[in-house]
Amino acid sequence: MEKTSQDHSELAANFNKDEERVDWHDETLWWIRQKRDKNVHQLPEWETLREVASQIKNNVLSRLHIYLKQFEKNATYNGMIVHWAADAAEHNQIVLDLLQGRGVDRMVKSKSMLTEECGLNEFLAEHGVEVVDSDLGERIVQLAKEPPSHIVLPCIHKKKEEIGELFYKYLGTPAGVSDPQILTETARQHLREIFLTRKVALTGVNFAVAETGEFVVCTNEGNADMGAHLADIHIASMGIEKLIPEKKHLGVFLRLLTRSATGQPITTYSSHFKRPSLGKEIHVILVDNGRSIHLGKPDFRESLKCIRCGACMNTCPVYRRSGGHSYHNAVAGPIGSILAPNFDMEKNADLPFASTLCGSCSNVCPVKINIHEQLYKWRQVIVQAGLAPVAKKAGMQVMTAVLSSPGLYNSAGKVGRWVFKYAPFAVNNQLNPWYKQRDLPSAPKQSFKEWYLTNKA
Ligand code: SF4
Repeated sequence: MEKTSQDHSELAANFNKDEERVDWHDETLWWIRQKRDKNVHQLPEWETLREVASQIKNNVLSRLHIYLKQFEKNATYNGMIVHWAADAAEHNQIVLDLLQGRGVDRMVKSKSMLTEECGLNEFLAEHGVEVVDSDLGERIVQLAKEPPSHIVLPCIHKKKEEIGELFYKYLGTPAGVSDPQILTETARQHLREIFLTRKVALTGVNFAVAETGEFVVCTNEGNADMGAHLADIHIASMGIEKLIPEKKHLGVFLRLLTRSATGQPITTYSSHFKRPSLGKEIHVILVDNGRSIHLGKPDFRESLKCIRCGACMNTCPVYRRSGGHSYHNAVAGPIGSILAPNFDMEKNADLPFASTLCGSCSNVCPVKINIHEQLYKWRQVIVQAGLAPVAKKAGMQVMTAVLSSPGLYNSAGKVGRWVFKYAPFAVNNQLNPWYKQRDLPSAPKQSFKEWYLTNKA
């Protein structure tokens, strides 16, 4: 997608121009949220599971260096090759070296938000390597030359008619066909040929077990398995926070993940990779890319517990009505708005303000991340760093002065009521974004204080 702005509110305004799209985007994600609720309520131990998952992840974060070494040792013992990447550039170079070292210039890839974060596809394309995304939603946005708009549902912003047009243009379906079954079958045939001819497959990692040196990849389409099993070389890109200490902990996370993500009791395929088959290779790339810095920030380290279920997006009233691309970042929504300023605070200073702070995200988070509190904290950091917009900063200074002086507060109330009544255009105009889609309320006759003084017994 051509991006003309890096400001959330401007990009959201753009998304909002298509009211019909906004409505079904909103309704579809809310439907998934409700599906999640129904599934969750069938488990009396749900809150216990959340608490256990949260504590396991706390443990992982406080002993990350130990678990990483343990995982490396056990994975190496199992016959995997472990690589360490300090940042996105190192990660991308490792992948390229693996491909070029074997004279390969085509690769199939299943869904991995980490590779989105690292800009892997673009990097490999610059070096003459063709990457085909095999997750259906990812393939659709790849054909549309857009980034994913949601970490679990990458093309949730697309209408089926638009997908039909893309398939007509790139995959040869008849013009005007938008039947999901026909489109899915077309994608299936198209991807089958890719799976059968690629020598290298890259997958993400949902969970890596330090105790056993294995990792688990969860998909609903089986595309990660298909790619990895048919290729000679399997590359697994993994953020260093994806570890869990022991295999028995998988039971906790697998029960939480898909219930939270799509309201299913379990992901269709939870595939365990422990050792390469005879004659094949598995490479695991452990990627830091800012995570160690994040870990060192007490106010924000909790966000590293994220298992990328997307529930905070599905429930967020801002995300649902502004679309994932408005977050101009690989990971959108509430969790993305916490992670992004860690990479580049100046570039992403708008994101923590893209929230109502209603707390719905924290309520649904399966690992109990205090998302809305961290968003609020980022706002404070951003304002203190002088990165808040000038108008917002000036407005806050005026509010601080008014709210800290009873006399000024009373006078401002009187002036405000007069303006609302006799000169509403002074506040209800193009310069005030608050009123763009809202009606001006009628001004009360008196303040609460005046009413109280008159009516108290
Ligand atoms: S922050 Fe929580 S709810 Fe949001 S994607 Fe991560 S695990 Fe899921």
